[in-house]
Amino acid sequence: MKIAVVGSGYVGLVAGACFAENGNEVVCIDKDPAKVKKLQRGQIPIYEPGLEEMVRRNRAEKRLTFTTNLARGVRASEIIFIAVGTPTGEDGSADLKHVLEVARESARAMNGYKVLVNKSTVPVGTAAKVRDIVRRETTHPFSVVSNPEFLKQGAALDDFMKPDRVVIGAEDPRAADLMKELYAPFTRTGAPIMLMDCASAELCKYAANAMLATRISFMNEVANVCEAVGADVDQVRRAVAADRRIGPSFLFPGVGYGGSCFPKDVKAMLKFAHAAKYDFQILKSVEAVNEKQKLRLLEKLREHFGSIKGKRIGVWGLAFKPRTDDMREAPSVPLINGLIAEGANVQAYDPEAMKVAKGIFGSKVTYSENSYSALTGVDALILVTEWNEFREPDYARMRKMMRQPVIFDGRNIYNPEQIRAQGFTYFSMGRPSQS
Ligand code: NAD
Repeated sequence: MKIAVVGSGYVGLVAGACFAENGNEVVCIDKDPAKVKKLQRGQIPIYEPGLEEMVRRNRAEKRLTFTTNLARGVRASEIIFIAVGTPTGEDGSADLKHVLEVARESARAMNGYKVLVNKSTVPVGTAAKVRDIVRRETTHPFSVVSNPEFLKQGAALDDFMKPDRVVIGAEDPRAADLMKELYAPFTRTGAPIMLMDCASAELCKYAANAMLATRISFMNEVANVCEAVGADVDQVRRAVAADRRIGPSFLFPGVGYGGSCFPKDVKAMLKFAHAAKYDFQILKSVEAVNEKQKLRLLEKLREHFGSIKGKRIGVWGLAFKPRTDDMREAPSVPLINGLIAEGANVQAYDPEAMKVAKGIFGSKVTYSENSYSALTGVDALILVTEWNEFREPDYARMRKMMRQPVIFDGRNIYNPEQIRAQGFTYFSMGRPSQS
């Protein structure tokens, strides 16, 4: 099939590469000429495991090309995916300007039947809006489809190639058939293709992310209660997870959720529920709890040191989660800003997000070349992102580098007894402070 994917970010680039991998002819379009130039040279502007190789392979086979020319891409394709950003607007709702702009420009370029597919996360009613815009701009036949994306950054290729489900909101059978054909190779292992109306397809992406965010905030509150009453959240989590109605995923306490999706999607869902005169009370709390949780480590530092003014603090992990360089809404940002505001000196290290971090903190933070140099002379280490390389460190080397052997583990990656036996003062989330 001939496919255009508009927007070559985390979603568009992965979708484009994966469609090409299954033999389709894909043109990826982005309005950012610098990004497109890089991609045309075979350089990937983001970090996503396996992506560079897949892009290289499909470029070599001439199944994957890159351009800034939207009209040309649209004319050459039958299916056009819209995978541009839908950031939080000023009032908290999803800002649809990029989506609607792409719809308008695509409509103007149409030269025959096209299926316009919304892959961006968009509120209910967006498919209808896109349909109206396109209808005004072209006399060619077209269909609008909602096809929300559920991939996780860091595991995006696997998620896309082997999805749990494919959701297709399509109200016309011709488009639904084309989409089923396109996705058939991705669902050979038995994952369902779920056909539904556009409104439901649009809503299910928000409902899924809101549910996951709810589990995170819920477990963070459970962890905080554990600390208050002297229970151990690890034990509690294991027992809760063993209940088959609940299951083990997304039950790990931490420093709050971040990234480009959960925070913005929770906000957007609150906003469109409110616009529909529904007061989504749980979700309001999910958001409030998350904001507080991002600063939980700062509170713990204050409790331990009294004042953190003048303290040197090492930070391990800046990306909002491991295996990505993405720092959008990362808990590390308010945390580090809080540390700086209270007069601490921050030395930070992340395996992939250093460049992004420099753009955020500038010269306010010292950037370290590796995890150990971030510990030079520090009064404490705070672990914010659970990269694998932090899991089995050389404890003796750490102690030698640190002025005080104190660790605040925001992700519970260490065994409290073992790490205390190594001579560290150790604080974590929802687990007893004393061994
Ligand atoms: P991104 O910011 O990484 O990429 C968006 C790209 O679109 C950018 O490269 C930008 O230059 C380009 N763009 C914007 N306007 C354009 C236009 N008019 N023409 C051509 N290109 C244009 O965003 P992302 O993380 O890939 O997310 C895209 C959408 O997918 C969002 O709605 C997001 O909520 C959703 N989503 C994201 C993820 C994720 O993990 N990142 C997962 C599922 C769904």
